[in-house]
Amino acid sequence: RAKELGKSRFKVFNRKMHDQALQLMELETDLRRAVDLREFEVVYQPIVELATRRVCGFEALVRWRHPEHGIIGPGDFISLAEDTGLIYAIDNLVLEEACAQVRRWQTLVGVTDGGELTVNINISGKHFGQSMLAGQISRALDDSGLSADALNIEITESALMDNPNVAEDILQQLKDLGVHICIDDFGTGYSSLSYLQRFPIDVVKVDRSFIVAVDTDQDSQAIVRTVFSLGESMGLKIVAEGVETSGQLEFLEREGCRFVQGYFFYKPMSVADVDHLLEGQRRV
Ligand code: C2E
Ligand code: MG
Ligand code: MG
Ligand code: MG
Repeated sequence: RAKELGKSRFKVFNRKMHDQALQLMELETDLRRAVDLREFEVVYQPIVELATRRVCGFEALVRWRHPEHGIIGPGDFISLAEDTGLIYAIDNLVLEEACAQVRRWQTLVGVTDGGELTVNINISGKHFGQSMLAGQISRALDDSGLSADALNIEITESALMDNPNVAEDILQQLKDLGVHICIDDFGTGYSSLSYLQRFPIDVVKVDRSFIVAVDTDQDSQAIVRTVFSLGESMGLKIVAEGVETSGQLEFLEREGCRFVQGYFFYKPMSVADVDHLLEGQRRV
């Protein structure tokens, strides 16, 4: 009996694994097709300069327009894209589209300096280690006419620290192009700060997990204060991610925060919605 029970349990387990494997294979096939057919949409979340309350730039965030399942967020397909190598094509697609788009918005608002309205692009840790990255970025800049000064490449701490020697080379190539390097999800990855000294970092984005309770939790407050003063003394630009409430904003402003991104001001937006928003921010 026990043996039988064990057997059937094994079978159920097996069936479930089998179904999951099938689903994953199907999703992989779909994702390959999505890359070929360019079934992706880029949405843009404004980054706000607190002193003026103006939009000073955007983070480009990818969405998958699946023909049957509808819109799929990056949390549900980026790791599959990394495992299958499709991430190179997806990141590159976002890079090209976002550079061209932000160049158009610069024209729309009439910027006088090519670095005035900026765009942040997420580059997966897996992609970051590849030697083709600098060439892809250079091409996206050339094709779009966007100034390198307007482009921030977002990478995570672990992308740097998984292979610091390779990272050093690639960062140098990117700095030579003139783009800025931004550390995403700061504080969640690597436990040492020494890499801030070792690598040419320009921008640090304080992870949302430190912002979420910053209006009440003293530990969060201490961490965020420390990052701000670190930024000040190292000449880094600090962006607070995931600001949702006026309480969080009050604390951040009191502590001298200059740039925020989060639902309190704006959610990720479609191109048409940003067009609308920028109409109100024309310089000329
Ligand atoms: P991330 O780079 O840290 O992007 C910020 C995420 O936080 C976005 O989620 C954004 O919609 C969300 N967010 C912004 N403000 C708030 C807020 O106030 N509250 C809350 N709860 N969430 C907020 P999203 O778009 O789902 O992207 C998730 C992650 O997927 C990104 O995290 C990034 O790591 C990755 N990703 C997105 N686009 C790309 C891409 O083109 N390439 C690569 N490699 N990764 C991407
Ligand atoms: Mg990011
Ligand atoms: Mg982030
Ligand atoms: Mg994040």
